[in-house]
Amino acid sequence: MAGRTRANAMKIISVTGLEKKYGNVQALKGISFEVGRGEIFAMLGPNGSGKTTTLEILLGLRRHEAGKIEYFDANGQIGRMPRVGAVFQGRVYYESLTVRELTKYYRDLYRAPPHNISRYLDMVNLKEKLDTQYSDLSGGQQQQIAIVLALVNDPEVLFFDEPSSALDPQVRLKIWGLIRNLKSEGKTIIFTTHYIEEAEALADRVSILSKGELVITDSPTNIVRRHSENYTVEFSFEEDAGGDVFNGFSNVWFRDGIYSFSVDAIDGDLMQALKEISDKHKLSRISIGKSSLQSVFVKITEEKGA
Ligand code: ADP
Repeated sequence: MAGRTRANAMKIISVTGLEKKYGNVQALKGISFEVGRGEIFAMLGPNGSGKTTTLEILLGLRRHEAGKIEYFDANGQIGRMPRVGAVFQGRVYYESLTVRELTKYYRDLYRAPPHNISRYLDMVNLKEKLDTQYSDLSGGQQQQIAIVLALVNDPEVLFFDEPSSALDPQVRLKIWGLIRNLKSEGKTIIFTTHYIEEAEALADRVSILSKGELVITDSPTNIVRRHSENYTVEFSFEEDAGGDVFNGFSNVWFRDGIYSFSVDAIDGDLMQALKEISDKHKLSRISIGKSSLQSVFVKITEEKGA
């Protein structure tokens, strides 16, 4: 029993058999996963796979038909929902308020001490924008302010729905940096994304969702190891090469005009095989690289027919 309590103390949320229906649409088909205390956990999946629904249910914003959600305290006891903060897409703030007014408003709502917010504003270098109206901030600055506002009650667990969606690469890196800082402060972060690179760059563990089912949960490295050989070869042709080009190959995947397969080693056999293909059909692109979450994700969701 003591061992079990210790194991529970390592996790903060446990989800078992979660089901959700919207009319005839079965949005979640009984998903189960656990989130470790202090980890960055990603829910990765194509649009419509059920990520936002899961987040909303975890936050208590939506009802579910079946399944269980348990929150654990630091002693491993099932407890109340911890203090949480959340940023959803399409959030709406009082656009004409300045950053200073907005932060004060949120602080007052939670009766939070002032230092919380100013420390995070420092982290994202937005202190100089204190007197700028929210509507005059760039999209990236608005997103960073939204994250800062979600921190006002010093939450233990943070939920971010597509945290860097539609933002340019520099802003994305800033937001990733902020999220990593929050983890180093001991906070647990759960986020949804359809950007594979975002999950791979940030998450300690990733759940891949496809059509309301959870396909796998593991660290990005383990997911790649379990589902792929060491290297992934990708190529496409100037013109449709027809199916026979892959006679003798097993597990060739096709998506968005790109064929791919994975191999254990880059050796003479591979080179010979590629030469034979390129002798017959004109290649428009070829790449050989370490297998990544990207290549595995395509495979996994393809198997599910996503
Ligand atoms: P994701 O966040 O992965 O894009 P969602 O959780 O938003 O997925 O949606 C999962 C499924 O549930 C989709 O088929 C979507 O169309 C459906 N859905 C989501 N919200 C609603 C809603 N409020 N009413 C009806 N169907 C919904």
